[in-house]
Parts: sequence; C-alpha cells; structure tokens
Amino acid sequence: MKLSVHTARPSGSLLAAVGLLFLWVTAAAAVPSLNVERLSPEDVTRLQTILQRLEPLIASHKQLGTANLLTWDELYQPLAEEERAWLDAFRALKGTDLGATSHYFGELTEPDVVPVGPTTLDAQFLPRDVADAYEAMMQAMERDLGKHLLVESGYRSPAYQLYLFLFYMPKHDYSIRETNRFVALPGHSEHGYPPRQAIDFINQEGINGEDKPEEFEALPEYQWLQQHANEFGFFLSYPRDNPHHTAFEPWHWHYEPTRPAN
Ligand SMILES: [Zn+2]
Repeated sequence: MKLSVHTARPSGSLLAAVGLLFLWVTAAAAVPSLNVERLSPEDVTRLQTILQRLEPLIASHKQLGTANLLTWDELYQPLAEEERAWLDAFRALKGTDLGATSHYFGELTEPDVVPVGPTTLDAQFLPRDVADAYEAMMQAMERDLGKHLLVESGYRSPAYQLYLFLFYMPKHDYSIRETNRFVALPGHSEHGYPPRQAIDFINQEGINGEDKPEEFEALPEYQWLQQHANEFGFFLSYPRDNPHHTAFEPWHWHYEPTRPAN
C-alpha cells in the first residue's frame, strides 16, 4: 500500500530516491578501504587493538586444541562493530588484487576432518583420506630412512587463516601485499580447502624451514619426499620461482590423488 502512495506523489518518490542515494553513499563510506602496500597509521593501531582483543580467544582455543577449527562467529565475537567491518574488508580482498596469481578456492562450511597426531604442537586435523595417505607415506619413509615427518599444520579454517594473516602482518611491515607472499588470505589457502588439502611438515628435530627454507630443503626427509611423495598423492605446491608469487615452501605439500606422478 505504501508503494502506491509513493507512486502517486512524485515529490515523495524523489525524496525516497535521494534518501536511497544517501544511504548508498554512507554505506559505501562505511566499508573501510585498505592500503595494500602499507596500512595507514590508524589501521596499524586498529590491527594492534584487534590482535590484543583476540589474544585470549586464540590462547583458549589453542589450549582446547580447536584453534584450527575456529569459526567466523567465534573470531568476530570479541570485536566491536567497526572492527568486524574492518575484517570484512580483508575478507573481500582477492589475491589477484595483490598482483598474486594465488587461486581462490572458496570456503567449505562444514569440513569433514579428523585429528592427526601425536604432534608436540597445536592439535592438527586432516580430511580422513589425507590422514590415511599421510600415515602410509610416513610408514614408507620410516622404513627407508628411520625417520618421519610430523604435521605442523594441516586443516585451518578460513577464520583462523585470517587471524594468522593479521598476526603475521607486523612481521612484514604491515604490508598486505608482502604478507600475502607468506600467508594466504582466507579462501586462498590449500590449508582451508579439503579437496586440495595441504600439510606443512616439520621434522622430528623441529626443523620446519620457516625462517630458512634451505634448512628444510637440505633434510634427507625432503629429498625422500621429492622422490616418493607423488606415489602417495602429495605434490609440492610452491617450488622455487613458482608462478604464484608465493615464497619457496619446501615444507608445504598438498594432496591431489588424481594427478599423475611427475
Ligand atoms: Zn602451508
């Protein structure tokens, strides 16, 4: 009924149109814009505040062993409205906005994952078939080398992926573009996409290559992976000078059982 009143009164519909335009402009202004080269000083402060606010939440989830399964609701819960909007701006970013060619995999709402272990680190999860393939591969490595690799990082929910992205930004001078070379944006990580599940390996002595990839590259375990991982369906995702503008990650292998071995 109200609609017909408006159509009968041109000045009313003009007012409505102006009102809508005003709403659209203010809504657009409310979406924070991010400087991808380096966060503005205000955004650096905002990031620091958000990380502080999230710290107890992440610590308790780590203790419970559920950090890798963190949901969006859980991540947003401790934050103010304006901080949530700021995270939304990150979620809207695409790798292609950053000159990277990283794939956008999307997000699966209910990943079907099982715990893997034991690890000395945070509790880790993998899809069942990936966990089975990992176990089989490690039995073979153990047989050949008398060593095996642990899962340092398996499945990570997109919400936890965003937390990690934010957590690592200070290390990369608050540059979104630079951080993205080392940590994928949510929806862009093989860790958050079970159909192409990634595992980050760490050896039994705790070498993971995080700060020095050459250290992991020099391990006999890595040489063994290069020779045999394909037989078990695992492939190195980011070799040296890969076309994705992603740093060399000798520890990061994804499961793709339908792909022929190299
Ligand atoms: Zn990884």
